[in-house]
Amino acid sequence: MSQIDLSKMAPCPFCGSTDLRITDWWDEDGEYDAIECCQCKGCAPADKWNHRATSQEARS
Ligand SMILES: [Zn+2]
Repeated sequence: MSQIDLSKMAPCPFCGSTDLRITDWWDEDGEYDAIECCQCKGCAPADKWNHRATSQEARS
């Protein structure tokens, strides 16, 4: 199981909230850790969460 430090995760890329929690995500490759936003219920795999936030910042 991977270690996730929520304090190192970017704010929600959907609504900007920092009220996040760790959850599980499944796809054809199996199960892995994901981040869920407690505000908007947006969810993404942990490794893509920061990537999405970064790409959004680059656009603004
Ligand atoms: Zn959110």
